[in-house]
Amino acid sequence: MHSSFPNRCRHCNPAPCEQVCPTGAIARNTEHDVVSLDIHKCIACAMCAMVCPFDAVTFHAQANGMPARTVATKCDGCVDRLERNEEPACVEVCKVDALVFGELNELVAAGRVRESNSVLAATAAQTPATPPPDSIAGWRAWGQAAAEVNEEA
Ligand code: SF4
Ligand code: SF4
Repeated sequence: MHSSFPNRCRHCNPAPCEQVCPTGAIARNTEHDVVSLDIHKCIACAMCAMVCPFDAVTFHAQANGMPARTVATKCDGCVDRLERNEEPACVEVCKVDALVFGELNELVAAGRVRESNSVLAATAAQTPATPPPDSIAGWRAWGQAAAEVNEEA
């Protein structure tokens, strides 16, 4: 089976590509916490591509280059959109909401709530085909009784 997925820059911190770039073409934008690449400083030495653990750097002809030359290219986190308080373009256009953007802990917490709600909704929608066996019914009755005792205490 063949499959593919967008292999974008993870904006590592510290970023190996930034540490090895000899010309300072790669730098962290501390305001938005993304790793940017200035193609005007790039000499296409490929050091960044060699150390990137995610194989996120590719090489393409510089757009409108004078003279035309190949430079390192990678996701810049849509930093110009972030400055306009917009989410990255890939997040905005993803048809199946496979991408989300935000603070990691908040995204994880929201994901937990979403999954819990899905399970609860699916459970509520089911009507048991067979009643629970007596052994289970006994334990549930015990649980109910224990809850009532605790509420009265
Ligand atoms: S290009 Fe690779 S090493 Fe550099 S920040 Fe992106 S993922 Fe990390
Ligand atoms: S290819 Fe460009 S961005 Fe990458 S390390 Fe070399 S000069 Fe820096």
